[in-house]
Amino acid sequence: MLKFNIFRIPVTVHPMFWVFMFLFVAIFAGENATALGITLKVLAFFLSILIHELGHALVARRYGAPVRIDLHGIGGQASYLLPNSTKKKTIIITAAGPLLQLGVAFIALFILAPLAQGTLAAGFIAPFVWISILLAVFNLLPVYPMDGGQILYEALPYNKKKIAFIVGVIVSALGIFVGLIYGQIFLAIFAGLGAWGNYQRLKQG
Ligand SMILES: [Zn+2]
Repeated sequence: MLKFNIFRIPVTVHPMFWVFMFLFVAIFAGENATALGITLKVLAFFLSILIHELGHALVARRYGAPVRIDLHGIGGQASYLLPNSTKKKTIIITAAGPLLQLGVAFIALFILAPLAQGTLAAGFIAPFVWISILLAVFNLLPVYPMDGGQILYEALPYNKKKIAFIVGVIVSALGIFVGLIYGQIFLAIFAGLGAWGNYQRLKQG
């Protein structure tokens, strides 16, 4: 179990995070992938997800919440218990994760990538940029409990559950459709889980 502090925020990286990330990257690695290339992609996932969770955690701490970050098998989580939670604070904390992730990705793309051309660092920066943009955009989709789904849920003035979960089912169903058409089985499965989860939440009301 890897434990460290960043900006005085305790971070725990569970062993399954590395197992899952290596498997995930290896599955999608092409025939010519090298061990170094795969390792750099895993590290890019690690840094990108950590930055995402830091976005949530740093803003939550500004609002007075004690925070911690866990990276586990299926990604990451920033845990915080907000004193005087409000709709606005929750939306800002939730949006901060993908927005910081996007911001750092653009800095890496436009400032670091040109400087690193032809060096080993370029083999890290390139996957870091596309992984960060993909994860941020993906997380902003309005599918509960992803960040976009949580923002939608908080932002709705009434019928929160009904509308948020119906939107979640519809967007997930589109994801299944797109995944099947383009042969992206992993996307189809992930979207299927999203559709199922939102349907269950909808039924429970
Ligand atoms: Zn998030």
